[in-house]
Amino acid sequence: MQNPLRNLPSVNDLMDRPALRDMLDTVSRSVVVSGVRSFLDNLRQDIRTAAVDFKPPTPGELAERIAEWISREETPKLRPVVNGTGVLLHTGLGRAPLAEEAIAAMGEIARGYATLEVDAVTGERSQRIGAVESLLCELTGAEAAAVVNNNAAATMLTLTALAHGREVIVSRGQLIEIGGSYRLPEVMTTAGAQLREVGATNKTRIDDYRNALCQETAALLRVHPSNYVVVGFASQPTLEELVSLGRSRRIPVIDDIGSGALIDLSRYGLHDEPIARDSISQGADLVLFSGDKLLGGPQCGVIVGRKEWVDKLVRHPLMRAIRVDKTTLAALGATLEMYRDAGKTAQRVPLLMLLDTPLENLKHRAERLAPQIAATSGVASAVAVETSACLGGGSLPTQQIPSWAIAVRPQSMSVDQLAASLRNGLPSLFGRVHKDQLLIDLKAVFPYQDMQIAAAFETLGGKPKASTAASGELLASTGESAMEPSTGDAPSPDAAPPAEDTAE
Ligand SMILES: *Cc1c(COP(=O)(O)O)cnc(C)c1O
Repeated sequence: MQNPLRNLPSVNDLMDRPALRDMLDTVSRSVVVSGVRSFLDNLRQDIRTAAVDFKPPTPGELAERIAEWISREETPKLRPVVNGTGVLLHTGLGRAPLAEEAIAAMGEIARGYATLEVDAVTGERSQRIGAVESLLCELTGAEAAAVVNNNAAATMLTLTALAHGREVIVSRGQLIEIGGSYRLPEVMTTAGAQLREVGATNKTRIDDYRNALCQETAALLRVHPSNYVVVGFASQPTLEELVSLGRSRRIPVIDDIGSGALIDLSRYGLHDEPIARDSISQGADLVLFSGDKLLGGPQCGVIVGRKEWVDKLVRHPLMRAIRVDKTTLAALGATLEMYRDAGKTAQRVPLLMLLDTPLENLKHRAERLAPQIAATSGVASAVAVETSACLGGGSLPTQQIPSWAIAVRPQSMSVDQLAASLRNGLPSLFGRVHKDQLLIDLKAVFPYQDMQIAAAFETLGGKPKASTAASGELLASTGESAMEPSTGDAPSPDAAPPAEDTAE
């Protein structure tokens, strides 16, 4: 048999074919040439290792395949997503969407220079936090504030600055893992602090803390178990009890409240989520929370509390390594501004807008989209169904949020293939697989995105998607791997919400 490797056209030959020549209008020649080379390399590899006979395509066909592959490779890896997973604070999808005001503030500050560490009145050097500190203090009742890269960084900084080489007392019921490599005992070790566990998984009493106090005690740490609940025969001391114990020995009480609601969210059906202001008023010395969870702002970690302790953190050398940039501060400042006006908050903070969308509205939209989706060629059936969404992002693990979804059954491909094609489509649409159906949950979808959902299904049926058509025709490791983006150590984004990214 002839060696099929010899029959492959040359790079120059391929570059002359219309499919690749036309690409040069939008993609630079060097990118196209190197794309052709990698594709051919991969193809040669496949031919050498393949057990089956390889039927060579014509050079024109091959050029078309390569052009398709290059355009897919050239699509930015970081791109917008329509979130049909029903997980509102999906860590894998970037948690809270930002408000228009926050986006505008970021843009304005990003474009040029800013008064980041300069006081405009005196012209003197100032603290970076100045931009948002007074807002944070006003909204939480704290004396002082600091902002760092995220809440993990806030915890690390706090433990390092206050407890390095000493002990921190934590209840055994609060030794959390919040996904990936973040586990409290290991964070403690990294910070150089000694974890002093007290109590039991379900019950810890204030006396357990008292009995563990010693010369070496640097802090009492309370952690909100955001992604699990201990129910039944269970109790923890109140924050006030911890505070009064800490005060009696001049030991700071650190309260990691996690998702960081600034206001009571029970009107949105979310109960029992700790509120930063409450922790401060109950006397916590330092309160830590994320900026991109329930607050609905940019990724950051907020620290509020007593000036004496905040100053200690801000002066620590680690602070420099985890500080935030001017655009984060701008977005956080603009988001916090909206919390000053209760009327504005619900209408301007996107996360709260999504939470506030009436169920009836979701139902109508699902019923309107279902027939449009059902009419597309890749789909066997699509119906509006009632379902439950959830917050995710490590908040309120047991609270299900009523929602509506479109349940889709594919025509010929598997439901996983359908999910993968939609994820890789334009726009990129993420749903969740449930019992052989793909659910597109509308709880985390903005009304203006409904059209994009319909469009995602239309382009899916329009031409055969690479993910389903390519396999088998060209033995192509060439790009197929790109169709199944690795989820790293995160669970599949298509999993049902409660089992899913809620962990983080
Ligand atoms: C989410 C969370 C963290 C980590 O916050 P990031 O902003 O993701 O770093 C820490 N502690 C608790 C209790 C959390 O819920």
